[in-house]
Amino acid sequence: MKVTFPHMGNLYIPLKTFFETLEVEVIVPPPCSKKTLELGCKYSPEFACLPLKITLGNFIEALNMGADTIIMAGGIGPCRFGYYAEVQREILKDLGYKFNMIVLEPPKGHLLDIMKKVFHITNKKNIKEIYSAAKLAWEKALLLDRLDKMVNSIRPVELMKGETDRVYKQAKQQISMAKTEQELTSVQQQIFKRMSKIKKAKDKVPIKIGLVGEIYTILEPFVNLNIERQLGELGVIVERGIYISEWIRDNLFPSFLNPKEHIELLNLAEPYIRCFVGGHGRESIAQIVKYSKEGFDGVIHLLPLTCMPEIVAKSAVPLVSKDHNIPVMTLVLDEHSAETGVRTRLEAFVDLIRHRKEETGNYALLPRN
Ligand code: SF4
Repeated sequence: MKVTFPHMGNLYIPLKTFFETLEVEVIVPPPCSKKTLELGCKYSPEFACLPLKITLGNFIEALNMGADTIIMAGGIGPCRFGYYAEVQREILKDLGYKFNMIVLEPPKGHLLDIMKKVFHITNKKNIKEIYSAAKLAWEKALLLDRLDKMVNSIRPVELMKGETDRVYKQAKQQISMAKTEQELTSVQQQIFKRMSKIKKAKDKVPIKIGLVGEIYTILEPFVNLNIERQLGELGVIVERGIYISEWIRDNLFPSFLNPKEHIELLNLAEPYIRCFVGGHGRESIAQIVKYSKEGFDGVIHLLPLTCMPEIVAKSAVPLVSKDHNIPVMTLVLDEHSAETGVRTRLEAFVDLIRHRKEETGNYALLPRN
C-alpha cells in the first residue's frame, strides 16, 4: 500500500510521521504549485470551491508518482466539504486511475469506525503502536503550531530581512525528520534557541492583525498567496484563527475532547449568527469579536470564491466591524488571484490601520516598511 493525502499547510508532516512510524509507505504530493492548480482546475467542475480543485491536483500528482491509496477527510453539515471525496473519487476514476480511497469521517462519537480504518491501513498494527505513532504525530502538530506563532511574531521585527524564514525552513525539516519524542524535544530546544538569536528591532511596535475565515485558505500558503509572510514584511504580527492541531482535534478526535473555550468562543457570534452554518462561518464572526476584545488593530477575513459558510459570515462582517470598532477586510481568493494584486490590498489595509493609530497618538511607535 502506498498512501497519499492532500496538502493543507504543514499537515503533511504529522500525517507522514503517523503512517511512516507504522511502517506504511507514504507518497507526499509535491508542494502545491501552479501545476497542481492547473491540473485541479482542468478536471474539476468550474464552480467547485478552490480547495477541492487544489486537493484534486495533489491527488493526480501523487497517483502519477505511484500512490495507490488516498486518505481523505470527510465532512458533515451544510457545506460542500462532505462531498469532496465522492466527487474527487469519480473524477479520478473517469481519468482512468486505479486506487483505493479511504474517507475518515469526523468521529463525533463514532471513534470505532475511524479506528477500523486505521487498523486496515496499517495492516492491523496493535493499539499500542498506533497510539505511540499518533502521539508523536500530535506532538509534531503542536510544535509546528508553536513554531508558526513564533515566526509570525518575529518576522515583522527581524533586523536581517528573510532570516526568520530561513530558520523556519530548516526547523520544519528537522521536525519532519525526528523519529522519536526524545528527538523531537531536542529539536524543539535547538529551534527555540535559534529563533531567540534572531536580531530584532527593539523600538518597533508592530501592528496586530487576526486572520479568520475558511480553514484551507488560512492554512495553505499557496492558496492564500503567503499572506502571513506578506503581512510580516509589512510589519504586521499575524495571529491565525485556526491552527493545524485544532483542525486535527476537531476532525479526528471525538467531540468530548473539544475544549470548552470553543463553546465560549461561539457564544461571541450569538448576536450575529445563531446556528451552525457549515465550515467555520460562525467561528469567523466570533473570532472578529474576540480579536477586537483583545485589542488587535484589524482582522482579515479570507475565503475562497463561492464558499457558502464564509459568504454567510461575510454578510455579518460590516455590522460586527461597526459594533466592535475594528477594521475588517474581506479577501475573496480564486485560481485567478495573484500575489501582486493581494499585496496592493494588504498595503492599503495596513496603511489604513496606521492612519487610525495616528489618530490615537501611537503613530511614532509604528514601523514603516
Ligand atoms: S468551507 Fe467553503 S471552501 Fe470549504 S468546502 Fe465548504 S464551501 Fe467549500
